[in-house]
Amino acid sequence: MRNETNIPGKDVPAGTDAADRFMTETNEKKKILIVEDEKNIAQVLAFNLMQAGYDYEIASDGEEGLRRALRGNFDLILLDIMLPKMDGFTVCRGIRMRLDTPIIMVTAKEEDVDKILGLDLGADDYVTKPFSINVLLARIKANLRRSSNEVVIGAKNASVIRIRALSIDPEKYLVTKDDVPIALSKIEYDLLAFLAANQGKPFKREELLESVWGYKEFFGDRRTVDVTVSRLRNKIESDPTHPEYIFSKHGYGYYLA
Ligand code: CA
Repeated sequence: MRNETNIPGKDVPAGTDAADRFMTETNEKKKILIVEDEKNIAQVLAFNLMQAGYDYEIASDGEEGLRRALRGNFDLILLDIMLPKMDGFTVCRGIRMRLDTPIIMVTAKEEDVDKILGLDLGADDYVTKPFSINVLLARIKANLRRSSNEVVIGAKNASVIRIRALSIDPEKYLVTKDDVPIALSKIEYDLLAFLAANQGKPFKREELLESVWGYKEFFGDRRTVDVTVSRLRNKIESDPTHPEYIFSKHGYGYYLA
């Protein structure tokens, strides 16, 4: 008896692209936490993640999402904002107090994007609903690649970079200002290290998305760069509105000097 073949639509013929992709990636499956209260969306996400070779768990409210996330066994978290019991902003902050796991915020409202950009939540990225599953998968892949250090920033130049009061130690992943350690998220560190390794050279947002975030073919949102720069400035600049390290080149992008 092969009961499983009786389930309609569940047959994936061996040798197809989907089957091959699934098989080659099962060796080191990454596990993703989906925090989403809308069952249909959660199910679509789960199905596509599974198809792309990921493991997943679903949490259907904010409290459950935070509780599960803090167990710490996820490689990435997809976090909706409008959630019962605890909103996504609070969940995000709660996770960040303890863990560096990449977090992609999922939002249906443009106001939320402004909030994600304006608050120091520690989110790594965001997508807006309705999103294309291919874009989301590309973002997931880029964030996973970055968090697993496959995108190595400035590591070839392993010596400590000193810029006035600021010191960046690529070997220890440590940033200090006036010898006081500054707590940076992985992406904040990567961006700073990249700009520092290329001092004085301005980069377009698209270039930073490709080199630092690991996004290919414009899958990233340029505002992601702006929000990360703004978080970095809040942490390293004495007066973030008058930066002394990370400068904007009007109509172009950013550079460190
Ligand atoms: Ca929701």
